[in-house]
Amino acid sequence: MTLGGIEAGGTKWVCAIGSGPDDLRDIVTFPTTTPEETIARAADFFSNYGSVAAVGIGSFGPIDIQHGSPTWGHITTTPKPGWADTDIAHALANALDLPVAFDTDVNAAALGEHRWGAAVGLDTFCYITVGTGIGGGGMANGRLMHGLVHPEVGHMRIPHDHERDPFAGICPYHGDCLEGLASGEAIRARWGRAGEANGDEHIWQLEAEYLALGLVNVICTLSPERIVLGGGVMKQPQLFPLVRRQISELLGGYFRAHELEEDLDDYVVAAALGDRAGVLGSLELARSYV
Ligand code: ZN
Repeated sequence: MTLGGIEAGGTKWVCAIGSGPDDLRDIVTFPTTTPEETIARAADFFSNYGSVAAVGIGSFGPIDIQHGSPTWGHITTTPKPGWADTDIAHALANALDLPVAFDTDVNAAALGEHRWGAAVGLDTFCYITVGTGIGGGGMANGRLMHGLVHPEVGHMRIPHDHERDPFAGICPYHGDCLEGLASGEAIRARWGRAGEANGDEHIWQLEAEYLALGLVNVICTLSPERIVLGGGVMKQPQLFPLVRRQISELLGGYFRAHELEEDLDDYVVAAALGDRAGVLGSLELARSYV
């Protein structure tokens, strides 16, 4: 079976053809420019390949994934210039004359990790990316989490000690939500240099504390069986142990679950598919439509 997958990100799009990690027949990455140009480029990539059965799109958001909604398949309120109220799914479906599946980039990545990666066999788990922004998705009882809109893990509100960290945060909607304080963009804005490129201990200690606050809220509300973390910021090798230690402290021994007591190394884990979780998951999203 030949499927198409698009990881439609705010800075770049990754398009792939194939059926999974061991059968990737073509993959291309290009920058996100205007909607017209970017969508046309993706359509060109797939139309050059004759036999694609369906295309899955994992998109940055917020997006409308409610079937029956007049704006299903649209990016809705993004602050990214030119992209608010953009219809991605119909534009590609019409250009390619193919069925198109549409979900969040993080739900697509979660689906990829569920099929081939760090969440195989689990039916309730979260995939959270900490990169330029912060986003989260996952499955509850074996189904991708949708609900009213879709989860927006990055915009949860967390405690912020202004004396210790006077940085106001960068979220245009909330200032100091989780994404506003702990995304890659926030690290860059707060410290004035590329966070990925420096090893200052206090930077990563503060980062780990914010991430742990967010993750503990996720643990307490959704009771995931595992949390899978992806994104550029999580490539800092010192971050995982710091985050796990903070989670353990914040949970305070309340939960009786060995995963949260002795086995945090297997509970908070890196995405097994790495940077390809999103595009591979988009292939899997397409499979659900054929
Ligand atoms: Zn926010």
